[in-house]
Amino acid sequence: MSQPPVAPRPTPRQRVVGMLGGMSWESTAQYYRLANELVRARLGGLHSARLVLTSVDFAEIERLQVAGEWQRAGELLAGEAARLEAAGAELLVLCTNTMHRVADQVQAAVDIPLLHLADATAAAVRAAGLSTVGLLGTAFTMEQAFYRDRLAGHGLRVLVPEAADRAEVHRVVYDELCLGVVRDESRAVYRQVIERLVAAGAQGVVLGCTEIELLVGAADSPVPVFPTTALHVEAAITAALDGVPTG
Ligand code: GLU
Repeated sequence: MSQPPVAPRPTPRQRVVGMLGGMSWESTAQYYRLANELVRARLGGLHSARLVLTSVDFAEIERLQVAGEWQRAGELLAGEAARLEAAGAELLVLCTNTMHRVADQVQAAVDIPLLHLADATAAAVRAAGLSTVGLLGTAFTMEQAFYRDRLAGHGLRVLVPEAADRAEVHRVVYDELCLGVVRDESRAVYRQVIERLVAAGAQGVVLGCTEIELLVGAADSPVPVFPTTALHVEAAITAALDGVPTG
């Protein structure tokens, strides 16, 4: 008697990435583009990323940041994360370094995993064999503990610019990059800040704000740079394609 035919195992499909964006939309647009480019590169042909995106009004978030109302901001983002999960997201990326300040609150609102931006970044730094990095980002990211501690938890030593440099790096993010303004003068300032971090011992520089890679890149630094938007997208798409045959 012949055996009943064994059903072929279904080919694993892409997991749906949930992007919690709009902080600012200038960098979320990069997340969207890079995710699709990566899927095309890995699967070939007309393949593109499976994702759902929610985008907040950044003015509201920025107001809460300045007021120190992190609990309220966390509630707002937790609600957005729940909407992504309800819309079919299978993993979550919070498309901003700064708002990882409330990552635990966001994760607690959903059953899908949040891919922490600092973990993806630290993994890349470690893979490059480096242990001391300079950190550029918003004042919240550079000065508060949540992000530096997360990197330190991966065995990294984190250097931040001195106060005047931090203020200028922060100003350029909010007054220029989040508004789509990319100025050569600001790139020159960032280059100098990077030089000073390297002189202080940085072996690499974390571009720890998702808009900063719109302004500077590898060519602007004597040491390797770690662009957090690109690294986060790469981690997300690698997770989304886990087990999916790539071309
Ligand atoms: N996108 C920036 C970051 O990665 C700053 C905007 C925000 O405050 O969320 O930190």
